[in-house]
Amino acid sequence: MKNSPIRKVVIVGGGTAGWMAAAGLSRVLGALPGLSITLIESEAIGTVGVGEATIPQITAFNRLIGLDEMAFMRETRATYKLGIEFVDWLRPGHSYVHPFGSFGLDMLGIEFQHFWLRGRELGDTAAIDSYSIAAVAGKSGKFTWPQPDNRKSPLSKLSYAFQFDAGRYAKFLRGLSEQAGVRRVEGRVVEVLQHPESGFVTGLKLDDQTEVEGELFIDCSGFRSLLLGQTLGVPFNDWSRWLPCDSAVAIPCELGGANEPLTRSTARSAGWQWRIPLQHRIGNGHVFSSAHMDGEAATDMLLANLDGKPLAEPNRLSFTAGHRARAWEKNVVALGLAGGFLEPLESTSIHLVQSGIARLLSLFPDSGFSEVEIGRYNDETEREYVDIRDFLLLHYSATERDDSEFWRYCRNLEPTDGLAEKIEMFRSSGRIFREHNELFTEASWLSVMLSQGISPQRYHPAARLLDDAETLARLGNIRGAIRNTADQLPSQSDFLSERGGT
Ligand code: FAD
Repeated sequence: MKNSPIRKVVIVGGGTAGWMAAAGLSRVLGALPGLSITLIESEAIGTVGVGEATIPQITAFNRLIGLDEMAFMRETRATYKLGIEFVDWLRPGHSYVHPFGSFGLDMLGIEFQHFWLRGRELGDTAAIDSYSIAAVAGKSGKFTWPQPDNRKSPLSKLSYAFQFDAGRYAKFLRGLSEQAGVRRVEGRVVEVLQHPESGFVTGLKLDDQTEVEGELFIDCSGFRSLLLGQTLGVPFNDWSRWLPCDSAVAIPCELGGANEPLTRSTARSAGWQWRIPLQHRIGNGHVFSSAHMDGEAATDMLLANLDGKPLAEPNRLSFTAGHRARAWEKNVVALGLAGGFLEPLESTSIHLVQSGIARLLSLFPDSGFSEVEIGRYNDETEREYVDIRDFLLLHYSATERDDSEFWRYCRNLEPTDGLAEKIEMFRSSGRIFREHNELFTEASWLSVMLSQGISPQRYHPAARLLDDAETLARLGNIRGAIRNTADQLPSQSDFLSERGGT
């Protein structure tokens, strides 16, 4: 029998994941004849209510759903983000920026870091950060849009993301989705109906006894993982031995302190603290390992390190690092926390939602639910989680800190095979390879490996093709051009207010 098109898509959950899915699917597939998209959410259950920093890929998602950037900035009280400042991660007193975009300028067809390493050998002590326009502009509180076509300007190397109020983002997406025809149903799912033989989900019963039927179900129910985990029993791959933080306490505070387009991550004795400045407040949180610190001490530490008056009560959360073994099972696809969670050290969760939506769109099924396509979806999703896990692990394992039991545990962590190979390659030759188009670029690996104390023993021999004076002069020129460009940029607040973004 010929397979038929999917006509009824049901999304469970109206957090960031649910409304991103609704907005993405309705934008791309909404005009398909007969297709309906329904989103069920329960105000009584609520959303996780944190998750405010993103990475540059989100600009593509916002474009896909037709979002006007300044309207979005205004509605979600957003600021720009040029990278993450890591404080005290290598050792107390040390800091660096992991910037978006790339470093310096490749020369003679050789990656920039080899010339930077050569310069260092010649006595140039400038940190790698000073070769990144995003890091230099970010630290100066400056912002502008990238100029990818202006090849002569450092701004061609710039890349940016946003920091926003996640609740407002979900609301904004809800407005767009409803305009595009998505039906929202308020109610709590109390029973999941399944086909007696295949186990496919056929419908959901709500607390008012109504039933919502569907053919494809998208589980965005948060940590509950109502359909994929609870109903279909897809197991969870627990990665807490590599990522031991399992708790967080979050609290917004009044504006105060630096006003830079950067997220800040400050290492603490049993984890780390985030600081995400928005237009109207700062989002703060302390991610920690409950085996090394109790919740009360973690909350006290957070409250003692705020830049302004608290604006709410502390919100405590617990989690396990890892992901569901299969993100797609039968006719259920999980997005967001229902599919897995890796701590927000590199702001990757919202991106995982976005890439899950993109993958679902490209592998959108028909009633046959092809196993080959589902397998492809699951393999790619798992690969993405593994890549991010390894990058996060690098931050913990490459440290000189041994001032607490937590840091002693972390510095002795055995790297995964993929991470060990990357570190070894870089340590021995300064080379970095971006595998299978993984999320983090060579520049990201370079930034964190170098800044967290992994020092290459040699560099590419071609970096010696320039004589000493020429090497130092070129490095100085690149630094100077970046500094001058950054100096001439508007402050982030001027940039936003001049364009109606506040
Ligand atoms: P939730 O927000 O939990 O939404 C779940 C939805 O399901 C809700 O609408 C709920 O009502 C509904 N629901 C559940 N059960 C039922 C039911 N039975 N019936 C009906 N509805 C139901 N991500 C980033 O990208 N950057 C960050 O900086 C970042 N920081 C984070 C910090 C912490 C401490 C945590 C825990 C997460 C962070 N995240 C971050 C992740 C981010 O918050 C989530 O990925 C994102 O908000 C998606 O959440 P969600 O929509 O999957 O789940």
